[in-house]
Amino acid sequence: MKPTNSVYTGLPVTVFEVMSRLAMEHDSINLGQGFPDVDGPVDMLRLAAEVLMDGPNQYPPMMGLPELRQAVAAANRRFYDLDVDWKTEVLVTSGATEALSNSIQALVEPGDEVVLIEPLYDCYLPLALRAGAVVKTVRLTPPNWALTIEALEAAFSDKTKLVLLNNPHNPAAKCFSREELSLLASFIEKFDCYAICDEVYEHLCFDERTHIPLMTMPNMRERCVRIGSAGKTFSFTGWKVGYITGCARLLDPIAKAHQFTTFTTPPNLQMAVAAGLAKDDIYYHDLAFGLQEKRDRLASGLDAVGFKVIESEATYFLTVDFTEIANQKGLPLDDVNFCEVITKDAGVTAVPVSAFYGDNAPQNFIRFCFCKRDEVLDAAVEKLMHWVTRAL
Ligand code: PMP
Ligand code: GLN
Repeated sequence: MKPTNSVYTGLPVTVFEVMSRLAMEHDSINLGQGFPDVDGPVDMLRLAAEVLMDGPNQYPPMMGLPELRQAVAAANRRFYDLDVDWKTEVLVTSGATEALSNSIQALVEPGDEVVLIEPLYDCYLPLALRAGAVVKTVRLTPPNWALTIEALEAAFSDKTKLVLLNNPHNPAAKCFSREELSLLASFIEKFDCYAICDEVYEHLCFDERTHIPLMTMPNMRERCVRIGSAGKTFSFTGWKVGYITGCARLLDPIAKAHQFTTFTTPPNLQMAVAAGLAKDDIYYHDLAFGLQEKRDRLASGLDAVGFKVIESEATYFLTVDFTEIANQKGLPLDDVNFCEVITKDAGVTAVPVSAFYGDNAPQNFIRFCFCKRDEVLDAAVEKLMHWVTRAL
């Protein structure tokens, strides 16, 4: 029989699902896949339930409910001083993943070069390859994750159609600085290309940092689309409500890709997310500050266990170097193996950072997720401590 598609055939199951399954199998505390263990605001749940019962429950407009598109436009103005026409410059999607898929499909022509920044979120590479892109990578490495001019020079060419930027970055937990964004913008202008900006962690920045969308940099308004997710901003990862902001020229073909992917997103969830986006400053402050406290709690615990903790500026992830512990325990410097061992023997699950890289990935880093109840974080640290000190 004829072969099925070469990108997806034989592709392994994503690392997040693999580690969650393994955690379940071993009844291990799951600090692997990123999802909060407490749901988001109750008023949003209530509103979603009310709209579900009272309707509307039929197809919303293809671009999204006006209430949510207006709310996304208002949030762009409120947080970033961006003027956005809700009618032509906002599209609602079923999660940021759909938004990424639509954007890549709509902007890439087979043979175009696409610049991806490693470490890579799981869907970027397969989606780019499926669209026929020739992928060029820029590699960031822990602990500094620096974006250098040399790496950009090596990746960009006249054939570059777009760069995909994840900011704040998962798993680097990095907010790109204004200088780095300005450098990237200079390449985007020089090579006349676009940027898809995955900004799902826009509201999860710590230590008084504020997120800077690349779209707000000079001459970037018409070259960038930026993607947000209610999963991250409101702690409802299962809802899969995303939104794209971009100029009409770019959003129009992206909406056509959406039209033939999902066409729409459940109306009750759209209404609830519209209400959520209008929440007061206290909500947004508490969201980031609450996570910052959890970051500090897990970071000091992991440090006491003997991990070398890398700074986390944003997101809900901490990357650590486990070299010292592996040496103590006589384990190889192999992050996949290390994650399996701690799941089975310590009862705590993390994600190997090499899963976010192509060939020759660093092997001594793992990622922990800290958007969990304090007692869960404490229990995880205790179990790791017990495992490390046991029968050395
Ligand atoms: N981009 C990044 C960087 C992510 O970490 C995630 C995971 N939540 C997504 C996109 C996907 O978001 P969604 O669940 O809204 O599809
Ligand atoms: N974004 C989440 C993470 O990085 C996982 C999302 C997923 O499992 N698709 O862990």
